[in-house]
Amino acid sequence: MNLVEILAVGAHPDDVELGCGGLLLAMRARGHRFAIVDLTAGERGSRGTAEERAKEAQAAAAVLGAAARECLHLPDTRLEPTHGAVKAMVEAVRKWRPQLVVSMSPLDRHPDHAAAARIVENACFLAALPNFDAPGAPHRPRRVVRYSRHAWFAPSFVVDITEHVERKLEAIRCYKSQFTREAPGARTPISAPDFEEDLRASWRFHGQGVGALYAEPFAMDGPPAVPDPVAALCVERRDF
Ligand SMILES: [Zn+2]
Repeated sequence: MNLVEILAVGAHPDDVELGCGGLLLAMRARGHRFAIVDLTAGERGSRGTAEERAKEAQAAAAVLGAAARECLHLPDTRLEPTHGAVKAMVEAVRKWRPQLVVSMSPLDRHPDHAAAARIVENACFLAALPNFDAPGAPHRPRRVVRYSRHAWFAPSFVVDITEHVERKLEAIRCYKSQFTREAPGARTPISAPDFEEDLRASWRFHGQGVGALYAEPFAMDGPPAVPDPVAALCVERRDF
């Protein structure tokens, strides 16, 4: 039996909240369990210490309703798909045994994000090989889908997050060191006062094509199998 149905992965604490927090809240509302894996502690970030970010990450995980959140403590700003990094991710996949893995985009501008995508992709394949030298029984997730923090992409599907957007923002606001200027640190775009407006604009853009107020976009390899096109594709549009 799977310990969680969904494993969400980010290079740094806060990537998961920004990229797929709405999907996780929507899945939780349907009774699915999920865990979060942060590949690094974000110790080289422009704002906040690793200790502050760890506390913020646990608070955000509680807001989202995660079954667990763990950090693999790979090196921030130096992520590479090395054997050691992939092995650590294989161990996490074998431990949590998810059906669905939500990962990052290999096209993202931040090199850690692109590296995270390769680490997760490699790990999801290798975790199934019985003789790969990592702890745990072999396991292969059925699908890997990807969110993006920077790069534009044509989504394979979007998830309506209208009912979850306020809670998603509540999870994001746990990262006071990153998204406010109350704490000292570099003046980054994500700590600007209008950052939340940028986020809402992006989610509204992705929602308007499917009649949702807000939606999150995801990419995947190949088309999704849709057992019931009426139920999946003919969803009621919001009242305009
Ligand atoms: Zn990041």
